[in-house]
Amino acid sequence: MFYTETKEWHTEKMIGRTLKSLKSNYFDAVSFTKREELVNAVLSYVKPKMKVGFGGSITIRELGIVERLKKEDVTLLDHWKEGLAKEEIDKIRMQQLTSDLFISGANAITEKGEIINIDGFGNRINSITFGPKKVIIIVGYNKIVPDIDAGLERIKRIAAPINAKRLNLTLPCTETGYCHDCKSEARICRVISIIQRKPYSTDISIFLMNEKLGF
Ligand code: SF4
Repeated sequence: MFYTETKEWHTEKMIGRTLKSLKSNYFDAVSFTKREELVNAVLSYVKPKMKVGFGGSITIRELGIVERLKKEDVTLLDHWKEGLAKEEIDKIRMQQLTSDLFISGANAITEKGEIINIDGFGNRINSITFGPKKVIIIVGYNKIVPDIDAGLERIKRIAAPINAKRLNLTLPCTETGYCHDCKSEARICRVISIIQRKPYSTDISIFLMNEKLGF
């Protein structure tokens, strides 16, 4: 019991530091302890007939947000939907850039209030930076790192190899479990984005959850 309490205390401290930094970098930032409250906060931005786009994100799926939004009167721009042809996926990725609401995870978030992502296509990075009227980035505390170097290291050691394995790709990282900075044609790490301050005209909220989400 004592161990659980001290672990929770440590997580709260880490989330508190990160929230403060995000706010000082002009982001709207909120923390949550209950999944339902976070999902309701996302839903509070949803209006009828909206176009809602999603970044490729396990976090959003784990929270059941895509399934929940299927019940709303909105157009979902989900390029992970099963059965899509390549042309349809490309079209959805393009449409995400001008969605009313874009919901994404992140690969890492620093205690200094920076958001780090590595993409293969760049649709997520583009959409969270400029285009959609509202952006919500949802992050479990497991993605919090001290600084940019640690964030990039986290992506190379954890996020990218697991993602490549999930996609069943043949790559050096899917053999060893860590990044080899490969030159493979199938390399998934092609575009790096570090958002240091809220971009001028993009309304971004960061929702931090006090549990592990995604990878
Ligand atoms: S650069 Fe290559 S080896 Fe490294 S994580 Fe990305 S795909 Fe894997």
